This record gives sequence, structure tokens and C-alpha cells, in this order.
Amino acid sequence: MNTSDRFRAHARTAAAQCGVTIPDGDGPLTVTTPVDGSVLAHIRPHTARQVDAALGAASAAFDRWRDVPAPQRGRLVRRFGELLVEHKEDLATLVTLEAGKIPSEALGEVQEMIDICDFAVGLSRQLYGRTMPSERPGHRLMETWHPLGVVGVISAFNFPVAVWSWNTAIALVCGDPVVWKPSEVTPLTALACDALLRRAATDVGAPDGLHHVLLGDATVGEALVDDPRVALVSATGSVPMGREVGPRVAARFGRCLLELGGNNAAVVAPSADLDLAVRGIVFAAAGTAGQRCTTLRRVIVHRSIAAELEGRIAKAYSGLRVGNPFDEGVLVGPLISERAYEAMRAALDRAAHDGGTVITGGERVEVLPGGVYVTPALVRMPAQTEIVREETFAPVLYLLGYDDFDEAIALHNGVPQGLSSAIFTTDQREAERFLERSDCGITNVNIGTSGAEIGGAFGGEKATGGGRESGSDSWKAYMRRATNTVNRSDGLPLAQGVEFG
Ligand code: NAD
Repeated sequence: MNTSDRFRAHARTAAAQCGVTIPDGDGPLTVTTPVDGSVLAHIRPHTARQVDAALGAASAAFDRWRDVPAPQRGRLVRRFGELLVEHKEDLATLVTLEAGKIPSEALGEVQEMIDICDFAVGLSRQLYGRTMPSERPGHRLMETWHPLGVVGVISAFNFPVAVWSWNTAIALVCGDPVVWKPSEVTPLTALACDALLRRAATDVGAPDGLHHVLLGDATVGEALVDDPRVALVSATGSVPMGREVGPRVAARFGRCLLELGGNNAAVVAPSADLDLAVRGIVFAAAGTAGQRCTTLRRVIVHRSIAAELEGRIAKAYSGLRVGNPFDEGVLVGPLISERAYEAMRAALDRAAHDGGTVITGGERVEVLPGGVYVTPALVRMPAQTEIVREETFAPVLYLLGYDDFDEAIALHNGVPQGLSSAIFTTDQREAERFLERSDCGITNVNIGTSGAEIGGAFGGEKATGGGRESGSDSWKAYMRRATNTVNRSDGLPLAQGVEFG
């Protein structure tokens, strides 16, 4: 059996374990693995009629699911979490095959799904509303939270399962069915997740129609965006995608949660523990081959330590093994496509044109024919030029120097995106100042920009879209808030002392 046949067989076995038979057909959606470019399956995308039927079924399911008490809804998510534990390896295998992540990161992504299920089960007993003192005698004023409706989830290739699960686990306990349009690059992991969730629904006797996967390209996503039956569109992907989706959902007064691109930076101050900083920087910049929304793309380093830090990162980069993600010891897997490599090349050319110097990396590596493998690039830049302000979805790390802290903050915030940020310092005043002044949704001290836990709200500001998902009170995006005033008196006093008749 050659490598390609092995990958195809691997995908089929992992999918079958999750309850999915990969069709042998000749559908027009060709699923390949970035590991060697070989074909895993040919899938039939969903037609407009099937999209319509799924939305109809999800709307009907909403009417039943909203009446199930939230703690009982939590049982579905608990069972799903148990199935994820059982099938962690299978799903991780599919993530590696479709997205190219090394197994440890793929397993981490599935663990994130398990974690959010735990969180959502607890949440199913904690969808708290508030009561406020009413200004009127004999009145009660309170806020109550109600299921919102069908949630449409549109997801990106690079987190093919975790981001969907953040949305779905929370939406389900909040009383909302989910219709999912996964990335066209990762349909098999989506089918496997859907099969496990359906099994969980059968096991706990949940109503039919609570979850649907719709496979296809952006046109399928657009159907969710424009359909008034979708109460919330939660869309994860590039800034250009969000620019299209946001206004279209707003035009029909739908609710939108956007999780878009980042251009994340770390400030490295003179007092930083450089051993720690280098470890944090290298994982955040080169991990997942630079294909995380939270990937570290800029290091803003104090000029007094710039040369030393540069040398240490370059040394660490030279020890990173780039290769087939299934091979032991490999830390950097493939880029998702030839196009991603072209974007990386173009960025490096533009950086050089702007006076940048490639310290190390940026070269194509021959690993498996058909796979796109590169060494992570480290580029010293004289200034934060236009290319540095863009997100290039590949392992390119720009080094910029600063002299005083305000300059570092100005460079840090001087990009259109606002997802994740970090400072490496042992100066507490500086750390606190950074926490206050970074304009990102995620701001860290002495750890890198990637690898968030599910407990906090995840998301970013500015062109990153402003959405918040996952932990904390992100659940509120999936529910409708009602303010209720209840009069238990026999009078009808009006607020603000208004007299009427
Ligand atoms: P992408 O924007 O190409 O596609 C994302 C999804 O949107 C896909 O499912 C795609 O089919 C769909 N889509 C594209 N145009 C659409 C439209 N007009 N209407 C409806 N759906 C549409 O992104 P990608 O290449 O899959 O992923 C990489 C990008 O995603 C990067 O920019 C990365 O930073 C971002 N990302 C952000 C987060 C976050 O949480 N902020 C997480 C993961 C990825």
C-alpha cells in the first residue's frame, strides 16, 4: 500500500469508528490531505433544496427543544462529551489528515471540544438572569434568558472541530439547534462530529433535527447568512469573509458573531526572562505551521536585547523539525495549500522590498510530493510597513525594535486586527500597563499569543470582528434577553412618576 492509499484507508477507518461511511462516489467536492495532496474522498455538496430542508427541520426542532429544561438539554451535551472521549483519537486522526496538524495539536483540539462540553453541562444549570429593585411599589423587575433560535455556524479550515464545538455545545444548552457549514477543506471531520452528536441525541432521547451539516463552498454559507430562519450566524474565518457576512446579516437584522483574522504581537521588554520568552514565541509563531488565528506574527522587542533575542529565536527555529505530521518528532506540518505558500512567498518578497532581512527560514522543503512544506521564517523589519500590518496565514514572524514603552504600544496597536497579544516582562508596572493598553480581545503576560483555554471568552476587536465565544458569559450571544416587570399590587403606578388620567 503506498502512502496515499494508506492515508485514504486511515481516513475511512477513523470516520467509520465515528459512524460515518465515506462515500465511494464521484461527487464534485474533492477532499485531499495537505500531508501529501492525495485524495481522501469525493463528496457531494448539499443542494439549495437540501439547505432549505435542513433549515426547515432545524426550525421545527427549535419548537421542541426550547421547551426542554436547560439542565435536561445539558444531558445531550454530556453524552456527546463522553463520545468525544471515546473517539478522541479517531477525530484527531481526521484533523491531522484534513488540516495537517501534528497529532499532539490535533488531540489538543479534540480535548478542547471535551472541555467545552464539560463547561456547557455546568452552564446548563447556570443560565442566570438578574433581578433589580423596581422603583414602583409591589413590582418586580427582572431579566430572563430564552432560547434564541437556529444558530448557523460557519467555520474555518484551521480549527475544523474546536470552534464548531464551542458554538454547538453552548447553543444546545441554550436551547438552539445548529446548522453547520464547515470549511470545504475539512468535510470529513465535520461528518464525523455530526455522526457522534446524532448518536448522543439518540442515546438521550433528544428530538430529531437538532443538528445538520451542510457541505459545500461559500455559496452554502451564504444561504445561512441570508436566511431569516437563522437567528444567529456565528462565522469564523478571514477578514474578507467577515466583511461580506457582517453587513448581509445586519441587513436582515439577524444576529452575527464574527471571529476573524488576527495579527498578533508580543512585546519583549528588557526585563523579560528570555528563556521563557523564546519558548513562548517559538510555539506561538511556528506551531500549527503558523496557521492559527492566534499565531504570533510580530515580535516588538526592546532594542537593547533585540540582537540576543533574534539569535535565540533563529537558533530555536533551526531545531524545529518540519515534516510529515504523522512522523515522530515533527513539530511543523504542511501548509494547507499551494496558495498559502504563494501568499507566504509574496509576503516575504514585499517584506524584502520594504527593507526587511530574512534571518532564517521561508524555504520550501521536500517532504512528500504533493505536500507543501516550509521552514518558518524570521524576518527583521526596519518599520511596521503595510505587509506587516496584514495577516499572512503562514509561519512568518516579523521582528520590530522599540526604544520606549509607548512606542511599543503604538506599534502593537497599529494594525487593523485585534485578536491576541502578549508581553514578556518581569516588571509588574509594565505588565499592568500592557493589560490596560493592548487593544486586543486576548492579552497575556509571560505566555505566548496562542493556546487559549475554553474558560475565558475568546475573540477579538477591530477587524477581528468583536465576537466572543467559548467560556465566561459568551453564552449570552446564543440567547434572547427579556426584561420583565411583574405587578403584584392592585395599583398601576407608572414609571418616572408619570400621571395619565
Ligand atoms: P475563509 O474566510 O476562507 O473561510 C472560512 C469559512 O467561511 C469557510 O467555511 C468558507 O466556505 C466560508 N465563507 C467564505 N466566504 C463566505 C461568504 N461570503 N459567505 C458565507 N461563508 C463564506 O477562512 P479559512 O482560510 O478557512 O481560515 C483562515 C482564516 O480564518 C484566517 O484569517 C484566520 O485568522 C481565521 N480564523 C479566525 C479564528 C478566530 O477565532 N478569530 C479562528 C480560526 C480561523
